[in-house]
Amino acid sequence: MQYQSTRGGGAKVSAAQAIVRGLAQDGGLFVPESIPEIGLQFIEDLRPLEYWQRAHRVLRPYLDEFSDGELEEILKLAYSSFDVPEIAPTKRLSGELFMLELWHGPTLAFKDMALQLMPHLLSACRDKVGETREIVILVATSGDTGKAALEGFMDANGISIAVFYPEDGVSQAQRLQMVTQEGENTHVIAVRGNFDDAQTGVKRIFGDAEFNEQLSRAGVVLSSANSINLGRLLPQIVYYFSAYADMRNMGAIEAGEQIDVVVPTGNFGNILAAYYAREMGLPIRTLICASNSNNVLSDFISTGVYDTGRKFHITSSPSMDILISSNLERMLYALVDGDSARLSELMDGLKTSGRYALTEREIAKLHSFMVGGWANEQAVSKKIHECFEEYSYLMDTHTSVALSVLDEYRNSTAPAKSLVVSTASPYKFGRAVLTALAGAEGEGDDFECCDKLAKLAQQQVPAAISELPTKAVRHSTCCDPQDMKRALIEELKLRL
Ligand SMILES: *Cc1c(COP(=O)(O)O)cnc(C)c1O
Repeated sequence: MQYQSTRGGGAKVSAAQAIVRGLAQDGGLFVPESIPEIGLQFIEDLRPLEYWQRAHRVLRPYLDEFSDGELEEILKLAYSSFDVPEIAPTKRLSGELFMLELWHGPTLAFKDMALQLMPHLLSACRDKVGETREIVILVATSGDTGKAALEGFMDANGISIAVFYPEDGVSQAQRLQMVTQEGENTHVIAVRGNFDDAQTGVKRIFGDAEFNEQLSRAGVVLSSANSINLGRLLPQIVYYFSAYADMRNMGAIEAGEQIDVVVPTGNFGNILAAYYAREMGLPIRTLICASNSNNVLSDFISTGVYDTGRKFHITSSPSMDILISSNLERMLYALVDGDSARLSELMDGLKTSGRYALTEREIAKLHSFMVGGWANEQAVSKKIHECFEEYSYLMDTHTSVALSVLDEYRNSTAPAKSLVVSTASPYKFGRAVLTALAGAEGEGDDFECCDKLAKLAQQQVPAAISELPTKAVRHSTCCDPQDMKRALIEELKLRL
């Protein structure tokens, strides 16, 4: 399989090259030259398999430079640190409603699904393309990605990682998870700004040709682990197939029965993987893109106008507090039928005026498979309460955004079995979840909130959280958005 830039520049590259480079040279994202199609029998055949075996089948056509044995070894390793044998279990809440839990990895959020695998892929790809320079992974995070990337890349061979996070844009537990990170090759830097400031700063460093030259002479090359990297995207396609196979195994759906899938969306990576699964032939009727109060995506989906000229809200679902959803570019590429000139025009509009507009035809195509919706803070809180009352099921704020949007959508459409993508453990956002359940603002710090939550739900606080307060802080660097490059040089102790 070959991959090409959405913007049309440069030659086609292999998966290994795309994963090592992260971003294409012309600033575009790598997309597969064609999406492999599978039949219903392929999905039926997944039913008796373990998660890593399902991943092997789904990823096979995308990673044809890997031998069967090599892929098997990497996949088994990646999915060995999850706390349930199913890896990504699907839970049935009612006849129609299913939860796909993507938070059983070491950092309790869905990013682990890809980031436990990606470092292994990258290490192998580094060898495959004959790269001898040290790879430095740069990450801008709105919270969960940072920790999941640090955990995945810790002590990886020939790879270091530097994570930038918005100082006031992450929860107490998220911050502690990052600043206590172990491993000699890990670096964590707070940015005085919001997520978009951090992300823009990282993009600027990637685009700084002179700096990259200097680095190269010092034997260092930058790459990304952000969700725009192909190595992040591909592993996420797997769990949609896996969930469908599990729903078949429960006897909940017929072979080929179409389901709706609702995804709480920020950078558009997770739902893009669902779109690829649908294109491959997974029977998905509608993809429902769920936003919080930062509703730029749901406005875009209803009107065809993407407009970032709006207020930025800090919400109880911070991993979705995003105004520029980088991965959307890959779906736009499909919407414009691979017309790179048209795509570049849209992206130029975004860069120069913060907005772009689709044509009627492009909007119609989008509406043939996707709807969008959003939930405000009050709705998110209320839905957590309702869900616990009705199903005794505890969910986090991000998942609640998805369920809120789904419930609204169901009022206006023919019934179908619905899969809600649950992206974080409720204990990762314990204060907000407790507040939703108990009414009054949860008292005490995040950890006391988790203890109270666990009592209420008659569960145990996951160890990844309960042991955090006793861990030593190892990272304390903080910088202004315009100083990120300098902070990086100091952190990595580079002599340029
Ligand atoms: C990252 C994240 C999201 C958003 O996923 P995208 O792929 O960026 O759309 C949603 N929920 C949680 C908990 C996350 O960590």
